[in-house]
Amino acid sequence: MDINQSVTSLKGVGPAIAAKMEKIGVSSLQDVLFHLPLRYVDKTTVTPIRSLRHGDSRVVVGQIDGAQIAFGRRRSLLVGISDDSGHMLIRMFFFSRAQQRALQPGKWVWLFGEARLGAKGIEMIHPEYRVSENIPETQTTCASLTPIYPSTEGVSQAVWMKITDQVLDGALDDVQELLPSSVLEQFDMPQLANALREIHRPAKASLDDEGAIPADMRERLVFEELLAQHLGLRQLREQRENKSAVALDDAAELQQTFLSALPFDLTSAQQRVAKEISSDLERDSPMNRLVQGDVGSGKTVVAALALLKAVVSNGQAALMAPTELLAEQHLKNISHWFEPLGIQVAWLSGKQKKSERQAVLQGLQSGEFQLVVGTHALFQDGVEFDRLLLIIIDEQHRFGVEQRLALRNKGLAGKQPHQLIMTATPIPRTLAMAFYADIDVSSIDELPPGRMPVETVVVSDNRRPELIGRVREACSGGQQTYWVCPLIDESEVLQAQAATDTADLLAKEMPDISVALVHGRMKPAEKESVMQRFRDGEVQLLVATTVIEVGVDVPSASLMVIENAERLGLSQLHQLRGRVGRGSQKSVCLLMYHGQLGQNAKQRLTLMRETNDGFEIARKDLEMRGPGEMLGTRQTGELGLRIANVIRDQHWLPVVERIAGELLRDHRDVIQPLTKRWLAHQEVYGNV
Ligand code: ADP
Ligand code: MG
Repeated sequence: MDINQSVTSLKGVGPAIAAKMEKIGVSSLQDVLFHLPLRYVDKTTVTPIRSLRHGDSRVVVGQIDGAQIAFGRRRSLLVGISDDSGHMLIRMFFFSRAQQRALQPGKWVWLFGEARLGAKGIEMIHPEYRVSENIPETQTTCASLTPIYPSTEGVSQAVWMKITDQVLDGALDDVQELLPSSVLEQFDMPQLANALREIHRPAKASLDDEGAIPADMRERLVFEELLAQHLGLRQLREQRENKSAVALDDAAELQQTFLSALPFDLTSAQQRVAKEISSDLERDSPMNRLVQGDVGSGKTVVAALALLKAVVSNGQAALMAPTELLAEQHLKNISHWFEPLGIQVAWLSGKQKKSERQAVLQGLQSGEFQLVVGTHALFQDGVEFDRLLLIIIDEQHRFGVEQRLALRNKGLAGKQPHQLIMTATPIPRTLAMAFYADIDVSSIDELPPGRMPVETVVVSDNRRPELIGRVREACSGGQQTYWVCPLIDESEVLQAQAATDTADLLAKEMPDISVALVHGRMKPAEKESVMQRFRDGEVQLLVATTVIEVGVDVPSASLMVIENAERLGLSQLHQLRGRVGRGSQKSVCLLMYHGQLGQNAKQRLTLMRETNDGFEIARKDLEMRGPGEMLGTRQTGELGLRIANVIRDQHWLPVVERIAGELLRDHRDVIQPLTKRWLAHQEVYGNV
């Protein structure tokens, strides 16, 4: 049997079952081998009826002592069974006449099922059973534990048993051992084929306490999968390094002019990261760099320096932001910085007027505009560039891989644009090692001088009147304040409504304070004018939805109230809170919660109170929510892993990195088959 054959080559698998199996990722014989049992049940020993407890899945052997149809709420067949120790019932809601006839008093039955305590004592509903004339020979029926496979509607455990039996018999010998024996010996690991056999059909003795997959066997698979994943990314990196890009020119002079007009000096972390980016950009292979820096660390200036390099190289650059509001702010900042240098900045958004958009598209296509700032509208079809050399994506955790690839394809024929991604959600080192091995990472690990940590206070919304008093006092004392109304409901309409109501209410309660409102359903020009009035100090209290979550920068704001804080994730709270504490004055963030706090919410809010460190918060967020959410859609479903789990198995990651290095150096022949074995189902590796 060829391991890459379709499951339809197995006995008992027709097109209908194959289609159902495909939905859970099983289409080849190899997929069957890697479709691991969830748990096992023990059918090797017989349990006396008297020792059955509610919830146990057990084998019972007994004799039928009666059968009758019960007409209760649902018609059912009840069959009484006795052994030396006691009496129980089988209950069936669906049964044929033939079944009913076969279950005759005096016959023996072997049963397996889950015991339940019903009104008439212990019973099993629709157990697996076999009827015989004499005492069944139980010892020989099952030598190993019985696996229970994850499944889907319409594929029974009996089907899984039948097909795994066939594949284990026919195809297991074709599973090539790809890890060098030196590696297996080093970690005292079994051969892959042996591990798979043991996992599918474990001997009773090897089951662990929780009845899970034998730990050392699972580790063997986890290790190989993580290794393959890491190698896949290293290959992506190699491929990228072999692609060509336009090497950008030195822009020191223009950059110096720009920097000297700023009211501050760069921090040394900003200087270091700018230098790292600059040397990437001067190479003729495409840059793929991630800049991570906590909220307020000053990523925008660093991005601006890179943009200038594209300009002096007579090329084009695009800066993309995840929200309209943030994109508008970038447009404003960058235009303000660059117009004195004689550089025009174009704007592209989904909400633009058609004629305006048309003019921008034309200017980009002709090369008239060198810089463009925008939202995801930038990577839509119909946006064409004359000479796109650099793409910068701000707050990347909101963008999917596919979207990034779409922009990359807008470069010159045969060349890839350089790509820079900026994020305030730092990726813990171990994760970066495993999942960003194709990307270079720079960290702005220092905040501009004079920043003071934001003081965070957690309060119940019972104390709302008191809180309003405090805000009013702060505002009349000249402090600018955000009042954030997030809703768990993602609907912009509902969010906007809640914020509008709150703004009305607050305006009524604080007649002497100038209150304004910003939300996602307002027109871009309206939003911009509100933000401008807030920036200018005309507005003292800005009521907002989570549209202000990322990137918004008004350094004079120093107080923030977040409603329903208990419903938000840690990273989101940290982002929101990062809107204050951007200037040199002391800032406060009030996290308001509703009702009684659950254990988990309490833990989260306490952590927010205790730390301002984005790294610490990201680590905790990862623990609490898992990496899928944290890394956005980089790879969906636990990052596309079948067996490994990056949290549980993270102790392997440094080892994996080391062994991957060894394989790349000494065993290059196994790399392609390894990545093919594990990653073929992940699209990302196919189209880069
Ligand atoms: P983020 O990394 O969150 O995107 P921004 O780029 O928005 O941060 O910068 C936050 C604020 O800090 C802005 O007002 C910016 O002008 C200012 N800033 C950036 N770098 C420095 C610096 N080296 N010294 C003082 N202020 C700075
Ligand atoms: Mg930013």
